[in-house]
Amino acid sequence: MQTTKFSENYARYYAWMLKLGVARALALTTAIATTTSVLVTIAVMLVLPAPEGFFWYGILVAILSPVLSAPGLGLLAWRMVYHLDAAQTALTRAADTDALTGVANRRSFMVEAELAFSNARATGAPMAIVMLDIDHFKAINDTYGHSIGDDVLRAVARACNEGLRGSDCFARFGGEEFVALLRMTDGRNALTVAEMLRKTVANLAFPHKTPPSVTVSLGVAGYTASCNSLHDILNEADRQLYAAKAAGRNRVASETNAARIAS
Ligand code: GH3
Ligand code: MG
Ligand code: MG
Repeated sequence: MQTTKFSENYARYYAWMLKLGVARALALTTAIATTTSVLVTIAVMLVLPAPEGFFWYGILVAILSPVLSAPGLGLLAWRMVYHLDAAQTALTRAADTDALTGVANRRSFMVEAELAFSNARATGAPMAIVMLDIDHFKAINDTYGHSIGDDVLRAVARACNEGLRGSDCFARFGGEEFVALLRMTDGRNALTVAEMLRKTVANLAFPHKTPPSVTVSLGVAGYTASCNSLHDILNEADRQLYAAKAAGRNRVASETNAARIAS
């Protein structure tokens, strides 16, 4: 608890320092150090009166010492804060990203989806989940090798991610399964988005037709008042995904529409 408060204050301090910029941060540091030095020197000389003529000499030393040393030390501190912030940003990004495909990972997706679910419960704002699984992906691996399999995962992830709005969240859920969080979208509109994703993947062209084509099956579920938790929506989307698989693959299924669509 104490540590968290300390980290929060520390983060606030260095965010403020970075916002100031290096020149203003150095000027401020030097001004604070100089003022403190002069005040302490005056206080000491009041308690222990200096010999005649030494007062201004003392004040001069009190000004020169911080003016000469504070900018260098301030610059060192500012550079450390700058690098710490850059490292922290890179770490946060890595922790939220799937290493193979570059889209969000399951952990960060769940954080976003829980927030969207809480918002939906509080305000009634619509939200939907689309689960997506590559069809016969094992056969792609077996036929063309794991490296091509990885390329397919990357291509599918990039195409779907680019097809969605900036406010949506597209993540790798595990293996060859992906998931999309569609904010401000009800189940019916999510069906249209899912169909767009299905077509986007089916139209992907791979170098030397390796593989010739890739398809996905998708399950859609929207938030309804009867949903008690995010897992209710995820489970429903998963059930619909398996319905799409069972109905023949390369199709979208949702609770409102029985499995349908094929190219
Ligand atoms: P279905 O149409 O029913 O989904 O069949 P499928 O072959 O796609 O599904 P299955 O679960 O049988 O196989 C999934 C394969 O995905 C097995 C696994 O080795 C492969 N896989 C999981 N993660 C990765 C990965 O990161 N890279 C590669 N190349 N393959 C992966
Ligand atoms: Mg699959
Ligand atoms: Mg799968």
